[in-house]
Amino acid sequence: MSKARKPITPKPPRTRQKVLVILQEHCKQCELCIAFCPKNVLCFDETKYNRKSYHPVTACDIEACVNCGFCEMICPDMAIFLAEKEDAEEAYKTGAMEEGTLIPEFMGKGTVEEEE
Ligand code: SF4
Ligand code: SF4
Repeated sequence: MSKARKPITPKPPRTRQKVLVILQEHCKQCELCIAFCPKNVLCFDETKYNRKSYHPVTACDIEACVNCGFCEMICPDMAIFLAEKEDAEEAYKTGAMEEGTLIPEFMGKGTVEEEE
């Protein structure tokens, strides 16, 4: 066995640059984002109905999100997208978000109205 030392290549930290935003009132439960998410991040919140009487999408495992953006690209209703963390934080703190907006990274599974 060789006694030569192997080089150690540092890996960049795995930090997500963007946060997932879900406009639950816009979701029509079509399931496309769930089917296309490569990390099984998304699922339906079967405890909840939106105004259209659908179970909206939520994040069942937000820690697995890799910011690939497939959900944003596939959603026909623009109900799910990635936003810059700073912008999302500001909107969250100032309450400048429409009703039913879910930012799982900040709120767990809650929504704006549930936080109040
Ligand atoms: S950005 Fe990619 S990994 Fe994250 S929820 Fe959307 S499809 Fe899944
Ligand atoms: S693709 Fe859009 S409308 Fe369809 S389930 Fe996902 S968030 Fe809802």
